[in-house]
Amino acid sequence: MRGCATKSLISYAQRCLWMPWCSVFMVRWSPMAMRIPRAISSRVRDIVGRDILVCAELDPHSHLTVKRRAAVDFFVYFKEFPHTDFVDRAEDLWRIALDTLAGRIKPVMSVFDCRMIDVYPTSRDPMRSFVDRIMRMEAEDPDILSISVVHGFMAGDVPEMGTKMVVVTDGKPEKGAALARELGLELFSKRGTFIMPQIDEKQAVSRALAATTGPVVIADVWDNPGGGTAGDATVLLAELLVQGARDTAVGTIWDPMAVQICMAAGEGAEIQLRFGAKSAPGTGNPIDGIIRVVKLVRNVEMRFGESYAPFGDAAHVHLDGIDIILNSTRAQSFDPSLFSVMGIDPTSRKILVVKSTNHFYASFARIAAEILYCSAGTPYPNNPARTPYRRAPRDIWPMVENPHNL
Ligand SMILES: [Zn+2]
Repeated sequence: MRGCATKSLISYAQRCLWMPWCSVFMVRWSPMAMRIPRAISSRVRDIVGRDILVCAELDPHSHLTVKRRAAVDFFVYFKEFPHTDFVDRAEDLWRIALDTLAGRIKPVMSVFDCRMIDVYPTSRDPMRSFVDRIMRMEAEDPDILSISVVHGFMAGDVPEMGTKMVVVTDGKPEKGAALARELGLELFSKRGTFIMPQIDEKQAVSRALAATTGPVVIADVWDNPGGGTAGDATVLLAELLVQGARDTAVGTIWDPMAVQICMAAGEGAEIQLRFGAKSAPGTGNPIDGIIRVVKLVRNVEMRFGESYAPFGDAAHVHLDGIDIILNSTRAQSFDPSLFSVMGIDPTSRKILVVKSTNHFYASFARIAAEILYCSAGTPYPNNPARTPYRRAPRDIWPMVENPHNL
């Protein structure tokens, strides 16, 4: 898949050679595929030469390297996390590209290294207000074509890991650099305050059980396949079983082997099954129990905004009052439709468990009585100060307190 995407982009770049003016590459990739777009930007530039405009829309959970920056005219990043704005940002990119080709503007990209790594959900303050403000700046100042925050990706162990501020101006690199620095230092001053407060699995389950209305959505924030984990941690499910939760649905736990066994057993079968927690330390222990196979669906998909996200062959199984969706393609829990396609009405459940850091928020907030962010186990390197990086910089926050010497 990655190879095909790379090849088709490169061949697109080669075909663009006979187009007179522009190649606009709109690439959206997962953080784990970082090596491919890094190569793509410079390979595309090598193919099309310096006279053709090269720009791209990117996911902010990425690394802005010197090489990548040098290969393009400008980047536009999604501003929202959850990423609900990739169509809007593509329109920004297209507008800037067309104005450039018409000779009306000259985009120049200025970058400030915030020398920090953090997680920046825009569904809450302080990031919500920050993004609203940079969008107002874009709208009000004709010199500013685009402002982006490159969040960075703390599980990416590369020398360029970290948050960057990007300002694209109309031929005003000094103004862009000053604004990028000002905004970047403002972000730095708020370090450690962006991410939502989290509770452990015991508190999360107790609070959900004590709630008077549902559904209470518990997000297993660090076992997020979108961030690279397997999505098979069972720490939260084990706690639900210990505390005797009922009327609960868990979506999803990745276990292709268990799904195969359920497929072989068929709907309605009651079988002894071991599932989950096989991928890595810190994900809990496999769950053993006599489960009932409720529903089996091949090649199932959930909605994600205007698109669909596949989660492979899946089995809806029932264990001690809890409905669990086992899946065979790792997928973040984007949308309540992941439950409904497996025969579970998510609005009727007291507790819903999802595997997602923040992408679930936009869609689940519409049906949730309450949302709890739970840090369960250690499936993901979520504490950069303690993560044993081999290549990532050691002189950024939170590895050091004051990397800017302010
Ligand atoms: Zn992202």
